[in-house]
Amino acid sequence: MADGAQAPELPQQAPDNVAQAVLAPDVAEEVLDEAADQDRDWGLWDSVTGVKLGQTAVADALGRLVKGVDLKTVRCSAVCQQLAAALQIDVAAVTARRAEIEQLLGSIVQNEAERQLAERISKRRRVDPAADEVLREMQDRSLRARTLLLTFAAPSPSTAVDGRPLQDPGVYSRREIRELAQSSLAKAQPAVRLLKCAVFREAHSDGRFHFHMCCQFDRPVFWNLWRQHLREHHALACSFQQVAEKNAGYHTMIRYCYVPSQKKRLETLDGSPDLWSADGPHPPLYEAMNRPSSATTVSEDRTRHVQTRAAQGKAPARVNEMHFWPILVRHQLRPEQPDFVPRLCQIIKASGDTQALEFLAKNMDSMQDIGRRLWMLENAEAELQHLNKTRLDLTVEAARTPCSCQGVWLHAARERLATNGLDPASFWQCIYQALRDGRRKGNTLCLTGRYGNEGKSSLLRPLFHVFPQSVFTSPTSRSFPLIMLPRKRVVFLDDWRWNGEIIPMNQQLLWLEGAALQISVPQNTARGHIEYADTAPIFVTCSVLELEVCGKHVTPSDFAMLQKRLRVFHFSRPLERPMDNLVYCASCWSRCVLHGTPEWMQVEGPPPAIIPAPSAGSVASEAADHAPPPQDATEPEADVSAAFMRKNCVNWTVQDVPDVERSGLDGGLISCMSWDELRQDLNWTALQMKKFARFWDGRCVQSA
Ligand SMILES: [Zn+2]
Repeated sequence: MADGAQAPELPQQAPDNVAQAVLAPDVAEEVLDEAADQDRDWGLWDSVTGVKLGQTAVADALGRLVKGVDLKTVRCSAVCQQLAAALQIDVAAVTARRAEIEQLLGSIVQNEAERQLAERISKRRRVDPAADEVLREMQDRSLRARTLLLTFAAPSPSTAVDGRPLQDPGVYSRREIRELAQSSLAKAQPAVRLLKCAVFREAHSDGRFHFHMCCQFDRPVFWNLWRQHLREHHALACSFQQVAEKNAGYHTMIRYCYVPSQKKRLETLDGSPDLWSADGPHPPLYEAMNRPSSATTVSEDRTRHVQTRAAQGKAPARVNEMHFWPILVRHQLRPEQPDFVPRLCQIIKASGDTQALEFLAKNMDSMQDIGRRLWMLENAEAELQHLNKTRLDLTVEAARTPCSCQGVWLHAARERLATNGLDPASFWQCIYQALRDGRRKGNTLCLTGRYGNEGKSSLLRPLFHVFPQSVFTSPTSRSFPLIMLPRKRVVFLDDWRWNGEIIPMNQQLLWLEGAALQISVPQNTARGHIEYADTAPIFVTCSVLELEVCGKHVTPSDFAMLQKRLRVFHFSRPLERPMDNLVYCASCWSRCVLHGTPEWMQVEGPPPAIIPAPSAGSVASEAADHAPPPQDATEPEADVSAAFMRKNCVNWTVQDVPDVERSGLDGGLISCMSWDELRQDLNWTALQMKKFARFWDGRCVQSA
């Protein structure tokens, strides 16, 4: 253990580009404006302009100076100069308090390192692995800085503060020591939250007692402020230690106090320490002393194991699946990638690890499954965090990310809705309601078109970016079509066929109305079936014919029920030009969905431009006839085919109706008949109906 908490090493030499990162004048002004004098204890500086500067202002300025810079190049001496320039303080005054600035800078650099790391990971950029390694190292150091070991030793008679003798901690119980330390921390550093601590009491050789207190915090601690407070208010002397070695943490300190060693025999250890935790009970010590597992620890353990066995003249034990965890993570190798197995083979061959190669050869067929399980281990925390967020939380997060389409997707989406005479406000509101309430009757958004290529999917494809890896897409397998549904946050059935071929229609109806579902799973890997009760909302695009013509495997009554469960938006105008290389922008999409809802408060920036519904007589008015009127859009459409006919063929003569002239039907008559009547009374087949529907709609477009 290293004595004294270490600020990150900040070499003394200033780099050549000292003045490069000086704050822009407007930013400096902002910092000065915000200069609150809440922290008088810290001591104030007078800037040249006469403004008093406290710790908050200095920390804020430091934060801005290091934001986004390459942290490897940050030097304390250079930062001091930049700070003086930015805040308009005398350089000498800043340098005089360099120690304090160094300490502040230490925690700010750590926070910035974490921010940069999170940013890199979230954007999944391909980054220089060396730069990532530095960030990881800094993150590890920041984790270590959040744990401290406090030692309250019995004082020698000569030590005193301001003429007052120091208190012998032995007069306190473990619990009292803990409470004193906690109250002192709350006074000295109110922002820091103690997460866990354990107080052990041990005897000196002269019979007096000393205490070790292992602490874990939610952020790095300025321990000297805390130490000062303990001395001045409780006359307690305390030393602070931080564990220096890699991957160290709270467990290392617990181990130091709890596990006997050559220096500390079992009988000298404290059998009943005081354990405290901010959230729930403190874990038992035999658990708290374990280092949390990760890909890195597995790799290090293996290295140590190989060394130990080699020292004993033995071959290392066989490798198992766990051996591949660090390898997959290091190479970012995922089982979804098409080259997963060959790349893994290449990596293991190149490593010369014959045991791993042997395992690989034996288990080649199951490596993808093993890969999936190992990534589950790796991503468990992120997955949990993701699952704890609601769909709207994730939408808000996406809305706060910068736009990735330069407004191109937004423009295309607005154009699609306007051309098809659809009211954007009710369209986005339906999506919002579906995300908020999940699947239930009438909450399934169904975008229909007659010819394809109406750009329907482009309005829903951003789902894949708002809910990455969490969208259930159209199943193709008939044996276990819904097996991937659990754990997905939303469902997007693109170009779906309502024919009951893949999923029986009665099961689809249950799914759409929000009832519990039985999901079949292969019985060689699982026992029983999955009861699915999650609420992932369902978004569909399909041909309008699918809703006009009852499929082969569907009964008419099921078909009628299906139509009641959908909220249909009809797209009647195909695209004039294909939309190549359209970026499906998660930010713009989420902004459209959230605008005007209570969640909009959490989103910053200007609202998306909401276009008004086109007025009658405009280019789109003909198209508007095809679509359900806006007020209907919130209601499930009862009978798409009948509604369609009433609107489009009223004025047709008998000659206008091809193929069935013999029946003497004109448009007016057809417009009064439902699809069931056409089928039953006139013996129309599904195929004929499809042909007609196409012809009619085509005619409308031509005459437009
Ligand atoms: Zn955008």
